[in-house]
Amino acid sequence: MSINKPLQDDFYKTLLESTKAIPWRIDWESGLFEYIGPQIQELLGWAPETWKSVHEWRDRIHQDDRDKTFSYCLRQSETGVDHEADYRALAADGSYVWIRDVVHVIRENGKTKALVGFMFDISERKKMETMVHQLNHQLEQLSYTDPLTNIANRRRYDETIRAEWSRGIRHESPISLVILDVDHFKSYNDHYGHVMGDECLQRITRALTRVTGRSSDLLARFGGEEFVLMLPGTDLSSAALIAQRCIDEIKKLKIPHIKSTVSSKHVSISAGVASCIPKTDGDPNKLLDSADKMLYQAKQTGRNKISYSEIKEIAV
Ligand code: GH3
Ligand code: MG
Ligand code: MG
Repeated sequence: MSINKPLQDDFYKTLLESTKAIPWRIDWESGLFEYIGPQIQELLGWAPETWKSVHEWRDRIHQDDRDKTFSYCLRQSETGVDHEADYRALAADGSYVWIRDVVHVIRENGKTKALVGFMFDISERKKMETMVHQLNHQLEQLSYTDPLTNIANRRRYDETIRAEWSRGIRHESPISLVILDVDHFKSYNDHYGHVMGDECLQRITRALTRVTGRSSDLLARFGGEEFVLMLPGTDLSSAALIAQRCIDEIKKLKIPHIKSTVSSKHVSISAGVASCIPKTDGDPNKLLDSADKMLYQAKQTGRNKISYSEIKEIAV
């Protein structure tokens, strides 16, 4: 038997109507459907005879996809360019199904004569794409979040300070950092246990969150019992006030800490504050170092307090 023997029309019909892809043909001049595979009824619930012209097709496109899809397909068809379009098609039950329409333009004497194509059900693929997109988003959020306290981690801080530093340069506005460290937390853990220690860090986090006011403020946990509060657009004196409020909020918690050398025998924190107006050749890590030095000073001079300094050397 010869492979290339001409085939009967019913062979093509059987072939077209037994695939998952739904074939169709539209006469270009009249815009009328000349054919649409009966599979369309199974997919969307609309009988083939209800697909009269491109108007029905257009009306059955989700309104958010409609104008874009319709004008794109029209343009490509007019100029004779084969194309494909993804859109949500309205089903007879009111739901939507993601469709990929693959269109071939039939031309005669340089003019578009008809369009033929296949509609593919791509809803499973779209569902997977959405899931992958959501998972990626969640993963990204997780990679920027401290798991114990659910606030920003060091990575988020590093990214944010870079952006805020540039903003500070552009607007010549100050940026302040407050480093907060729990006093005698090692002896807290040793005495009350690690689980209580973790709970204590969570309570401290909630209290510190209450102090941060602006949406551009960022509270991050740097690991251990150390937090950094980034305050863009805030000068030293305002940052010092905020740092003091942090200390007061922790004081208010009245978490017992009998091993503390701080007189109240409650959990306390110390804070180092540094501030500068960022300059192009400045380094945000120097500001962090300065805040750290101030924290050291607060620890050396009795804890449960703040120390602060204006950084001139990086504002060159
Ligand atoms: P200082 O007042 O000088 O800050 O003393 P400190 O004891 O707080 O400082 P040090 O750095 O010696 O100890 C920090 C302790 O914090 C060590 C560890 O027991 C505790 N710690 C660090 N990370 C965690 C954590 O994720 N959970 C708990 N429960 N404890 C932690
Ligand atoms: Mg500490
Ligand atoms: Mg520490």
